[in-house]
Amino acid sequence: MPGPYKRKKYHFGDTHLKKRWRTKRRTKDLDEIDHDINHKAEPLLNQEIDVDRPGNAQFYCLHCARYFISEEAMKDHFRTKVHKRRLKALELEPYSIEESERAAGMGSYIAPKKRKMQTQPLKSEESTAKRSDDDGDDIMDDLNKDSK
Ligand SMILES: [Zn+2]
Repeated sequence: MPGPYKRKKYHFGDTHLKKRWRTKRRTKDLDEIDHDINHKAEPLLNQEIDVDRPGNAQFYCLHCARYFISEEAMKDHFRTKVHKRRLKALELEPYSIEESERAAGMGSYIAPKKRKMQTQPLKSEESTAKRSDDDGDDIMDDLNKDSK
């Protein structure tokens, strides 16, 4: 037979389906992240130095449950598709037991609420934003005193 032996791979199996369940880079589920945002945002964003985590656990994206090595890396991540997609996914309230009961005919159906998700403020930007806010308030107080 002329030419090289044809050994091209045509069958890729179900790897694309299995990929979803790989555990190597698996982080939290969306409902866990939702709980974190509502109840544990502060401690997660201000974590103790942990040398086992990337960047000593000082740069954590709340919405993706991921650690970054530096503020630069985290900023870059905020601009990526994965992060924006995650914010979009978190806009809808997570599926709850109450919702499943409503679906089964207990009580009336309430559509899951839409809400606005925002990227967490960076630590460096947070402090400057607070300072300017305080200044603004002071000016407003002074104006009010003058008018009285
Ligand atoms: Zn993120």
